Amino acid sequence: LEDIQAVDIEVAQAITDELDRQNSHIELIASENWVSPAVMSAMGSVLTNKYAEGYPGKRYYGGCECVDVVEELARERAKELFGCEYVNVQPHSGAQANMAVQFAILKPGDTIMGMNLDHGGHLTHGSPVNFSGTYFHVVPYGVNDEGFIDYDKVEGLAMECKPKMIIAGASAYARTIDFKRFREIADACGAVLMVDMAHIAGLVAAGLHPSPIPYAHVVTTTTHKTLRGPRGGMILSSQEVADKYNFNKAIFPGIQGGPLMHVIAAKAVCFKEALQPEFKVYQQNIIDNAQALCKGLMDRGIKIVSGGTDNHLMLVDLTNYDLTGKAVEKLLDSVNITCNKNTIPNDPKSPFVTSGVRLGTPAVTSRGLNTDDMDQIAEAIAVMIKEGEPAADKAKAIVKSLTEKYPLK
Ligand code: PLP
Repeated sequence: LEDIQAVDIEVAQAITDELDRQNSHIELIASENWVSPAVMSAMGSVLTNKYAEGYPGKRYYGGCECVDVVEELARERAKELFGCEYVNVQPHSGAQANMAVQFAILKPGDTIMGMNLDHGGHLTHGSPVNFSGTYFHVVPYGVNDEGFIDYDKVEGLAMECKPKMIIAGASAYARTIDFKRFREIADACGAVLMVDMAHIAGLVAAGLHPSPIPYAHVVTTTTHKTLRGPRGGMILSSQEVADKYNFNKAIFPGIQGGPLMHVIAAKAVCFKEALQPEFKVYQQNIIDNAQALCKGLMDRGIKIVSGGTDNHLMLVDLTNYDLTGKAVEKLLDSVNITCNKNTIPNDPKSPFVTSGVRLGTPAVTSRGLNTDDMDQIAEAIAVMIKEGEPAADKAKAIVKSLTEKYPLK
């Protein structure tokens, strides 16, 4: 930080404060993680200085021989990791990857189906406040009363509205997604199946969630959630589909300019880490921790949407405590537990208030916490939900003991 301190004391101070915050808090935001020092260094490297519009071997700038090596490494490793023929590692984010795929395949006014935001879908899957809900006619699908995707209903809707694209994947869905069934539905109604595996990409890479690659026409992802890489996005498909829709052209010059080569280098490092045997152990630990946290909460009487989890996250249903997600997010924040308010299926409250909170275990698992620690975190969360502020000292003591036991390096 010395370089920043010498030039800009305010930003240096904010970064130092953020490190202290991360160190002293239990991070349960399901979409966040704690990257390795190697990934962090790649992001802060000289590659940020380089313009490289185009693709390896076909750039619009000179001096790209070194960044070409980096982008090729990222592409080849991603192909090996996920077992696919084509990958584009240039999307600046998950939303950009989704926008490029929709731009490549759809025309304004086309019908698409995506998971309802309230039921766990992402903004880019057809929310009215997003480009996807503005340019396309959206028929949303959701979960049944038990909190599981209602595949029969998805099929019924699809056969009725004959969408051009069906989007599978979610931001707040704790159960295994049946990609094979989604493909059967897409084939039956003549739709393209796009899978957004952003949340579960690490689990898929480790073989701990069924891969969408054999079933989807095209897969998008972020690289910074369970996958534990830099903030960014990616598109994966067969070569035939990539050529048919020209995803490369959709990213550049379609919706982006120069690629972030420092981020692509960090993606390459992340994929190398994900190809090591330890990565599978790490991903299994994420799931074990999520299940331990979920059990700890349910044993203490806290309701979980769908009654459990198969992956790295869970949705707490607060309706029987007469508490909003907004209030619980704030209560937990006051004892240094970070999470986010989240709508639950058929939530009567707005996305700014909500009736639930989403909890996930990728970041705490990267930090080294285990299933016994999850039970203690469940205790801290449960006492705050049930007793409120009077339980704050007890919850804070649990958080302090765990954060001190596992300092961030
Ligand atoms: N897709 C899903 C399923 C997500 O959960 C998210 C982000 O949370 C995104 C896409 C968007 O990713 P980004 O924030 O990198 O644009």
